[in-house]
Amino acid sequence: MSQAQDDAVEADSTSHVEYDAVVVGAGFAGMYQLYRLRELGLTVKVFETGDGVGGTWYWNRYPGARVDSPSMQYSLSFSSEMEQEWGWSEDYSPQSDLEGYANHVADRFNLRDDIQFGTSVTAATYDEPSGRWIIHTDRGDWVSAKYFITAAGCLSATNVPNFKGIDTFEGQWYHTSRWPREGVDLTGKRVGIVGTGSTGIQAIPKLAEQADQLFVFQRTPNYSLPSNNKPMDPDFERDWKERYSEHRHNARVSPGGAEVIAYPEVSALSVSEEERNRVYEAAWNQGAFTMLQSFTDLMTNIDANDTAAEFVRNKIRATVKNQEVAELLAPKDYPIFTKRICVDTHYYETYNRDNVTLVDVKTNPIEEITPTGVTTSAGSYDVDVLVFATGFDAMTGPLFRMGIVGKGGLSLKEKWEAGPRTYLGISTVGFPNMFMITGPGSPSVLSNMTTSIEQHVDWITDTIKYLKEHDLQQIEAKADAEDAWVDHVNDVADMTLYKRANSWYIGANIPGKPRVFMPYVGGVGAYREKCDEVAAKDYEGFALSS
Ligand code: NAP
Repeated sequence: MSQAQDDAVEADSTSHVEYDAVVVGAGFAGMYQLYRLRELGLTVKVFETGDGVGGTWYWNRYPGARVDSPSMQYSLSFSSEMEQEWGWSEDYSPQSDLEGYANHVADRFNLRDDIQFGTSVTAATYDEPSGRWIIHTDRGDWVSAKYFITAAGCLSATNVPNFKGIDTFEGQWYHTSRWPREGVDLTGKRVGIVGTGSTGIQAIPKLAEQADQLFVFQRTPNYSLPSNNKPMDPDFERDWKERYSEHRHNARVSPGGAEVIAYPEVSALSVSEEERNRVYEAAWNQGAFTMLQSFTDLMTNIDANDTAAEFVRNKIRATVKNQEVAELLAPKDYPIFTKRICVDTHYYETYNRDNVTLVDVKTNPIEEITPTGVTTSAGSYDVDVLVFATGFDAMTGPLFRMGIVGKGGLSLKEKWEAGPRTYLGISTVGFPNMFMITGPGSPSVLSNMTTSIEQHVDWITDTIKYLKEHDLQQIEAKADAEDAWVDHVNDVADMTLYKRANSWYIGANIPGKPRVFMPYVGGVGAYREKCDEVAAKDYEGFALSS
């Protein structure tokens, strides 16, 4: 037991412990929040469902899982010593490296002492008389805390569609984000995979290498860009480390939370087709997200956007030998970049393999899972193993699963029935002293997550420090500030093409979920300025009370 826990007060004889803060989740967000709150001298308890740290990188261990932000930028910046001592194996490192890094962070800062693993929060209720949060877990115990901080990730509530007959399947099935630690031997197996988002696109080439036969059940094709991943160049790494603080600064003020080498200056429509394609070709060869930075108006002008979309469609047509398959893989009914762009290693090439079959389940939907496989309206496919790369109940899902109840007995789920409402994506009216790290209404999933996580954790920590120093007990967003922020989040999204896609950003992947654009597209740098301004104005838009 740590000093923090020793200091925590036994409140009564039913093993109820009082903490200053409870944090839910031990991914990068939860670990860094714990580290910062310990610095303030707070007693902290972190609850984590998994048996280890890492969050996304603990759970998503499917074949092919790797980061698609550059490794040098997808890391925590708070310790310059750690920054210098840690090395990444590849430009876009595999899941095992990310999980290893998360464990390194936990060990280096002795974080495990305050983390209770294998424990899920089942209810978190604000108790008005005491002004404290009462937190129950699936282990049957409960604790109380002055501050309740969610760090459960934006993409942690798995979505397995309610396929008819799934319980009758006689083979094994897995959701990609619950892949067994020991792996799955697919040698000689007939495998079916449902889903062609970022996860499916990473997994499919690897599954195809292992399986005897792979059936890919695709409903909506995605645009995917090559990562052009390679082993980390030691010279590049050394140079980067020499100027780490400058790189970090550039990331913090950037739109996407990652350093941009060159910002675009002209419209895609202001140059000749030849010049445009030259720019796209260079970005394609550079790899990953570079193409997004090709021109100024790719996210705001549909004609400009379509030049990039057509470039990618032509790449698909040039890569995939069977042109019928290529056309099925080429997205045509939504603008590029309006769903999370995918980044791959040999995804389209995989469809040239003899053992891979693309099954179009948009035209011929999946009707049921049978004991032996998948039946669509056009035929049946016998498989031994089924893989669901079917995504997540994003952003709100992880919060709803915690059973959060605020003032007046109003649950978060009820309050957000028509979609999430937050002030700055960190806090919501009626839930005092609760903070959401990378909550809806913040840049979160539209950014390099580690940059946004650190910004939120730093802001939350500074806020708690301010409350302590001013002898204040409670902070709660005000309704007018929340209304204005929700309007602003929508206004900025309306200036873009984002709402033209049926994406998980808008809740479209979960039947019945309200269609509200959830992340903040105004940019990481501008958002940081806004948060800092609110703090500098003594927490404008918040009610503070003693
Ligand atoms: P996703 O983008 O939501 O993709 C889910 C896929 O499953 C889609 O192709 C979807 O088709 C399909 N699907 C869902 N229900 C279906 C049904 N009933 N029948 C047929 N198909 C169905 O989920 P994801 O691929 O797990 O990615 C989620 C997010 O995680 C990404 O956007 C990204 O932000 C993050 N991620 C990041 C990385 C990385 O950084 N390296 C890797 C993986 C994931 P429809 O499109 O038709 O709904």
